[in-house]
Amino acid sequence: LCAKEKGKDICFFCPRMRAALHSKIEVAFELQQALPNQELALYYQPQVNIATGEVGGVEALMRWQHPKKGLILPGEFISIAEETDLIIPIGKWVIYEACRQNKEWREQGSYNGKISINISPKQFMQDDFVIYVQEVLARTKLDPSDIELEITESLYLEEGIYSKLEQLRQLGVQLSIDDFGTGYASFQYLKRCPVHAVKIAPQFVMNMDKEEPNKSIISLITALAEELQLQTIAEGVETKEQLSFLESLNCAYVQGYFFSPPLPPEELISFLKS
Ligand code: C2E
Ligand code: MG
Ligand code: MG
Ligand code: MG
Repeated sequence: LCAKEKGKDICFFCPRMRAALHSKIEVAFELQQALPNQELALYYQPQVNIATGEVGGVEALMRWQHPKKGLILPGEFISIAEETDLIIPIGKWVIYEACRQNKEWREQGSYNGKISINISPKQFMQDDFVIYVQEVLARTKLDPSDIELEITESLYLEEGIYSKLEQLRQLGVQLSIDDFGTGYASFQYLKRCPVHAVKIAPQFVMNMDKEEPNKSIISLITALAEELQLQTIAEGVETKEQLSFLESLNCAYVQGYFFSPPLPPEELISFLKS
């Protein structure tokens, strides 16, 4: 960023860039303390089976309860966690905490379904990733099929992911591709990927009536998934009309504010009871 390397002494660095960098450094610095200070939490959003109306899964979504700034959403800190590698310890905590919570709910008899966990590409690429998942399952005495790992299409660019996905599948863990069609979607890759489900990103579903091709995109993804015998989970369902459209496509699961936003653990259990 500095012109010094070019033998000059001036910094070409405008105030706005400086402010942006400063706030990024601040977030990175504070995020380092977030885990030991127990400021990170998981919220859970129900995934509803369209055919039965039952909750078949819940997705764990991270929240940062900042002591001064209040509740911070992943959009504000996940990319910084990835850039700084903090996503490695944080991601491990997410896996552990989601499994621990799942076990607790099972023991209480309050929720017996699956929990979906978001996995960042960097985290997935760690050599000990599969072993760590195995360790957590053993420690929390969960069945591998009680969890689903959500991976993203950007993993397609990495080497050696198929054998890793295969190992996880052998283990009995469920796998899904998050936000299918927003990244490096390739039918070729999808055909080779040993996954169970594809998730349709909220922006397609929420905006199906606002932007023309969205409905077509959703139809295509659902048809492709059906052809490959994969389940479809649509995110961002906010209205009854959107739900009806997805129902007409035989989409298996829906997730969205129409049913519930992501909730803290106790509120999810109240939601399930009601
Ligand atoms: P995602 O995994 O695709 O999660 C779905 C996002 O859509 C969530 O945003 C959820 O709150 C939002 N959403 C669900 N239904 C609706 C709806 O009806 N309307 C609208 N407007 N939004 C809806 P959130 O919680 O802010 O998370 C954003 C992204 O951050 C996630 O997208 C995921 O990629 C990432 N993320 C969240 N938690 C974790 C985590 O523990 N680890 C990693 N690596 N990434 C995470
Ligand atoms: Mg997700
Ligand atoms: Mg995502
Ligand atoms: Mg998604």
